[in-house]
Amino acid sequence: MIQIRLHNTLTNDLQPLVPVHPGEVRIYTCGPTVYASAHIGNFRTFMFQDVLRRFLKSQGLRVLQVMNVTDVDDRIIQSAAAAGIGIREYTDKYIRAFVEDIDALHIQMPEELVRATDHIEDMVALIEKLQTKGLTYTSEGSIYFRIAKFPAYGKLSKIDVAGMQAGARVDVDQYEKDDARDFALWKAPKPGEHFWETRIGPGRPGWHIECSAMAMKYLGDTLDIHTGGVDLAFPHHENEIAQSEGATGKQFVRTWLHAEHLIIEGQKMSKSLGNFYTLRDLFARGHKPSTIRYLLLSVPYRRQLNFTEEGIVQARNSTERLRNFVTRLKTAQFPPGSIAENEKRIEKAENDFDAGLADDINTAMALAAVFDLVRDINTSMDRGTFLQQDAPRAVAAMEKFDDVLALLADDDDEKLAKLGFSPQKARMAAAEVEALIEERQAAKKRRDFKRADEIRQNFADSGILLEDAKDGSVRWKYK
Ligand code: AMP
Ligand code: ZN
Repeated sequence: MIQIRLHNTLTNDLQPLVPVHPGEVRIYTCGPTVYASAHIGNFRTFMFQDVLRRFLKSQGLRVLQVMNVTDVDDRIIQSAAAAGIGIREYTDKYIRAFVEDIDALHIQMPEELVRATDHIEDMVALIEKLQTKGLTYTSEGSIYFRIAKFPAYGKLSKIDVAGMQAGARVDVDQYEKDDARDFALWKAPKPGEHFWETRIGPGRPGWHIECSAMAMKYLGDTLDIHTGGVDLAFPHHENEIAQSEGATGKQFVRTWLHAEHLIIEGQKMSKSLGNFYTLRDLFARGHKPSTIRYLLLSVPYRRQLNFTEEGIVQARNSTERLRNFVTRLKTAQFPPGSIAENEKRIEKAENDFDAGLADDINTAMALAAVFDLVRDINTSMDRGTFLQQDAPRAVAAMEKFDDVLALLADDDDEKLAKLGFSPQKARMAAAEVEALIEERQAAKKRRDFKRADEIRQNFADSGILLEDAKDGSVRWKYK
């Protein structure tokens, strides 16, 4: 079997993947915080995890992946209170939307998708364990982890805790490295806030404890892989290590994988900055699920992914190229026989594809292996050096690639229909609309009204409404 190497944030180098349980890889993934719809930055990270799990499975490994849903935290409590409903009711609809979104993107469901609020008892038990070990203290009804008692604190994010003021606390779930402090495991109830009556007192869990409790419950004390976006390394994952290793005395995670961010106009896409697109925003603009899947997986996870319109157009064209190639293989007539050279060429592509992914899930290398093969075989077909029996072999290779890439199923319209988008809307992508608008403006300028009218008719047929503004600019939307 091929040696898989992954970049471990803990050691800051590439390490071979050696599962604790031979033949099975146990992965914990920090899932969505369901106080709003996930944006495509979030899906960048979830897509990386999908490619990872699909690749491991394609190599004959079993995968046991647990993803949590954070359905209680500061933001959820605030948003639910503002909406005047309970947190469970508030988060239900976002969980449903998340599951629909990952289905649209062909992201496989993890073996376990678990809600924090279903695991309060597990968190309480873990906090009790930390109490027994003398790693906590209580202040005004809240329980804190005393990081001075855990000398390894900082080993993941490499922060220096030497000069820190002992006993300084932080109560919010999210904070920066400069604020490295004793963090809340359990928060005393505040007036009007949702709380649980438990053995450790009334209150609610801090954000970090849920992941330690649920990861160890389903996957054991030591996991093979823990994933998340880079923003989670500190404080969230650092605190998970402190909680888990503090309680068990064993290594919590062998390999930490962190995905770089999806950025837009130079900034991280995020809810708080307001510079985000949800998946459905993109569908409403006419983009297909497979296009977004391609776009999100095409950039290796340790590189930032710059989100642009051109990137979308390229992703759509590349996906179409793959689909057209398979159609050609399946429908074209070739002379009988087979040629050993073609078999060799296909095998090389298969090896290069696996080697790319085994090298820290380098999707750019893997895609290059596929497109090089597409180019070479197209050339062979044009030259007549690709024969009947070569075709099913090439189709089999493309299908094998697709176990990981999941781009070939021509089901975009079906996926869109499930989410209430009509397939017609998906037909013309935003970039195409904009290019045609420019062409129409140019046609009008040179008084070619026939062409301008043709384009307007084309838009009408495709369900696109144009609005000519007074200043000469043109706005458009889908009907
Ligand atoms: P959240 O719902 O905020 O807890 O985030 C869910 C996942 O998305 C986490 O792994 C985050 O690190 C990740 N994430 C958030 N923003 C981005 C972004 N712009 N690009 C990539 N991943 C992100
Ligand atoms: Zn987490």
